[in-house]
Amino acid sequence: MANQLLQVGSLSAAPGEKRYGVNEFSVQGRPYRLPMWLVNGRDEGPTLVVTAGVHAAEYASMAAALNLGRSLEPATLRGRVVVVPVMNMPAFTARAIYVCPLDGRNLNRVFPGKADGTASEQIAHWVFQNVITQATYYVDLHGGDLVEALVPFTIFFRSGNERVDRMSLEMAKVFGIHDLVSSETPGATFSAAARAGIPAILAESGGQGIWTPEDVARHTNGLDRLMRRLDMIPGGAPEPVPCTLLERFLWLRSEHEGFWYPDVAVGAEVRATQYLGCIKDVEGRVLQTAVSPADGRVLFIVSSLAINETDPLLAVGA
Ligand SMILES: [Zn+2]
Repeated sequence: MANQLLQVGSLSAAPGEKRYGVNEFSVQGRPYRLPMWLVNGRDEGPTLVVTAGVHAAEYASMAAALNLGRSLEPATLRGRVVVVPVMNMPAFTARAIYVCPLDGRNLNRVFPGKADGTASEQIAHWVFQNVITQATYYVDLHGGDLVEALVPFTIFFRSGNERVDRMSLEMAKVFGIHDLVSSETPGATFSAAARAGIPAILAESGGQGIWTPEDVARHTNGLDRLMRRLDMIPGGAPEPVPCTLLERFLWLRSEHEGFWYPDVAVGAEVRATQYLGCIKDVEGRVLQTAVSPADGRVLFIVSSLAINETDPLLAVGA
């Protein structure tokens, strides 16, 4: 069956067309410019939305999204793909960690956003209404932030909608990363999408401002595998990859401003109550001890010596 026009904001692509452009909309009364690709296959099929750069220094994810947008061709595509490679452009330019410099908020905690909210809430609102709600399937690419070391993992959210949850888990498995985490992150892209009835995953690869070819390829391969599974591109269904499903995502946070001394490697298997590190003051007095809340695996560690009150320290998947 013939495909339809793909339209996002002021940009559009007819069936068989690929369009790169910048959508401009107002955030706090000032123009906000969001680059994106619209790739519209000749034949009807699902709409896949891929975003990256919600967190501005997670470079492997952005490099993979840029590769996808630059290389995907409508002639070999069934359905439609929208790629937003850097959602949080002000934070990207500022090399900001966690938050958007326009309002100091974490963009991945404010979805689905608010039309009359803060800058981050307005960005989230525009992207959610204009891009994400068009998705049949949604993938948000992440990695460790500038101060985070991590092992690759894929998160999905159990929304209570059986169809959505089954497909989100299937997407997570197909993406090809070994560790899968079932988690509710309030205000996150993927959980807001799942609540709105859209199967969604958030994939993490790379970290600490480093984007190795392997880290980028993990995301690129995941997208390729998913599009093959959805029969959007040729190549047939991908080979299954063994995976471990972690049902809890347990974050430890700092209660102090000070110096963080982790004492465990990222990816390590840990036991409940195991010592994982401590926060010290200038003179070396221990202000806080971090112990594992469960048997599990350390999925990320903050690698910065500087630590602020309420900052994450690490997370255990259990
Ligand atoms: Zn992130």
